[in-house]
Parts: sequence; structure tokens; C-alpha cells
Amino acid sequence: MIAPDLLRRLRNDLPMPATIAALGRAGPPSKVSEGYFRFLCPHCGEMRATVNPRNNLAHCFCCKKNLNNIDLLMTLGHDFCSAVVLLERWLKQYQARQAKAKSREPPG
Ligand SMILES: [Zn+2]
Repeated sequence: MIAPDLLRRLRNDLPMPATIAALGRAGPPSKVSEGYFRFLCPHCGEMRATVNPRNNLAHCFCCKKNLNNIDLLMTLGHDFCSAVVLLERWLKQYQARQAKAKSREPPG
């Protein structure tokens, strides 16, 4: 049984660009254009899946499908449980990096 709060955090608190960076070569090709992070849509194969930073959801402007972190991993062949395990690990790493970057900022 996976806690609903964990699923919410995996969808919202780990930015999709961080997920795609963590996937490395296993992940879809991506680029930043016009200030938006875009990646190759796993449904239609067009470079039109665009991450909305407000809700951390990718929307493909070609086939109109939406993807969150969990959906993305499942399109890459993970089952639901292994997607959750991976994302939870990456979320922890991401938050550790954020905390470290913050501690390096000058006081005040
Ligand atoms: Zn698409």
C-alpha cells in the first residue's frame, strides 16, 4: 500500500526536468525552448511534450496527452511500484541537493 501523500509528493515535488535528467540515456530527448522544458512525447514521438512548472505536468501539444512523473516512467516500461521506488529515491536526492544549495547561500 502506497501512501497517497507520497504519490502526491512524487507528482508535485520532483520537477519533471529533474526526473528526465535522472533517467539519463534511458529517458526521452529533451530541450529548453522559449523558457519551457520540452521532451519527446512517448505517445506520439513529437518533441511537443511541454512541462507546466505550475503543476509539474507535461502536456503534449501534438497528441494532447498529459503526463506526470509516474506516467512518464510507466511509458518507459516501469511498472507502477518500481516507478514509485525510483521516483522516491530521486525525490530524496533532489531535496538533498536543494538543501545543500540553500546552505551555501550567504546569510541574510
Ligand atoms: Zn504526444
